[in-house]
Amino acid sequence: MSSSPSRFHLPTFSTFLFSSGFLFVTTPRRLYSYLNLQNVVLSIKMSSSSSSAAVGKRKAAGKPISPPPLKRKAQSTISKGTVANFFTPASQKPKDRTVWSERAPDHDTPATLLVARYEPEEKENAEKIDNKSRRKIAAFDLDSTLIVSASGKKFSNDAADWKWWDASVPTRLRQLYEKEDYHVVIISNQAGLGPLHPDPNAKGPKNTGKARAATFKQKCAAVLAQLDLPTAIYAATGKDKYRKPRTGMWDELCKDYGIPAAEVDLEHSIFVGDAGGRTAQPKTGDMKAALAKDFSCSDRNFAHNLGIKYQTPEEFFLGESPREFTREFDLAAYPADSSEDVPFEKKNEQEVVLFCGPPGAGKSTFYWKHLKPLGYERVNQDTLKTRAKCFKAAVELLEEGNSIAVDNTNPDPDGRKEWVELARKHKVPIRCVWFKMSKALCEHNDVVRALNKSMNPESRTALPGIAFAGFFSKLREPKVKEGFQDVVEVEFKFRGTKEEYAIWGRYWT
Ligand SMILES: [Mg+2]
Repeated sequence: MSSSPSRFHLPTFSTFLFSSGFLFVTTPRRLYSYLNLQNVVLSIKMSSSSSSAAVGKRKAAGKPISPPPLKRKAQSTISKGTVANFFTPASQKPKDRTVWSERAPDHDTPATLLVARYEPEEKENAEKIDNKSRRKIAAFDLDSTLIVSASGKKFSNDAADWKWWDASVPTRLRQLYEKEDYHVVIISNQAGLGPLHPDPNAKGPKNTGKARAATFKQKCAAVLAQLDLPTAIYAATGKDKYRKPRTGMWDELCKDYGIPAAEVDLEHSIFVGDAGGRTAQPKTGDMKAALAKDFSCSDRNFAHNLGIKYQTPEEFFLGESPREFTREFDLAAYPADSSEDVPFEKKNEQEVVLFCGPPGAGKSTFYWKHLKPLGYERVNQDTLKTRAKCFKAAVELLEEGNSIAVDNTNPDPDGRKEWVELARKHKVPIRCVWFKMSKALCEHNDVVRALNKSMNPESRTALPGIAFAGFFSKLREPKVKEGFQDVVEVEFKFRGTKEEYAIWGRYWT
């Protein structure tokens, strides 16, 4: 659906047009508009003052009011851009050449991906450029790469509040298209716009997402119109397979441009984005100011996943030399490894093994692979639901003479103490397996599992960030002196097939 600014806001104005007496005044069209705009402002003011008058009446009636009513400010959604557009006569308005569509990540989910396609007007006698044979893609992030806010605000919800990141941007993009045989596309994460299709049963305001998306579309249409190249914008509004560094948007664009995945010229394709994981740099010598660190590394990681060249906007548009960067989670530290190691051995006839490790550490996988074959029975709160049921199940299993593995997170000594006491009561030695891992690695594992059916035997959904934060804030490393026979430290290593590594060994967060 295309929503040009004028069409989007006109109903509001025309309502006032008819409700006001100005309809019969024979003034030029622009004056109508002006008067009506005044009228809108007036009406908003009036409605806000009448509501405070109502509050006054209630007060006068002497009814106790507790707590006092909130004073609401009437908020107008009319932006400067809307007003400017409103005053432009229809004959001078450019035809909206941006066509929008939406895509869903799967059949059970509403659409989360916004796609804008722009085709310039065909000029007479213009040289026909063949797009079909193009195999090189020059892709760009949008915010802080092609454009920035004109006001200097970090997040702006005014469609007119933008300017080019650098004056050279539109010329350089035109050159890529006209002289260097590239498809030029824009690939942007816009989780702030979501959800595009909120759950109708969910609580809270429903239309904020819609309004934000409308403003975003207006801004994109203006950017595309200024570029005036055959190009497209892909905007991921969800946290699903489309979100960078995940490669869903790239797959969509290859389909849209009719390029089979294997035919993309990866060697000459490029992705330019500002999220490059660059480290902060203090001001030295001839530098104008100190440089802040990047908020993320998702743009660099996106290019890594695709196997194409990555550059920051400073490198690409200004020819600056690369700055230092770092990754919170670096795949290079976890190469594919097919060696069959034995990370765990049974020590006693009957024993309790207590796991300690964050969600996403691979505790369950470790149990099925290394402890189940040794005969341990599993006690797990995700399946048993409550801690009390875990203790009850453990007691029964121990009384039957089984060895058990307690497959829970157990971050703190107080919680672990209860297991130590239970083991002591049953005169069974207790050992601890400690999954020592970084938060970034756990989050990676969690997303890999949630987004890939083949690696998700228990069909788990992605955990909220708070699940990891909660564990790490409570975490105290397990120590032998807590009453364990030993603490076996398991260092994370990807254990799986080649096919599984092809999925795991990409950036997902
Ligand atoms: Mg950006």
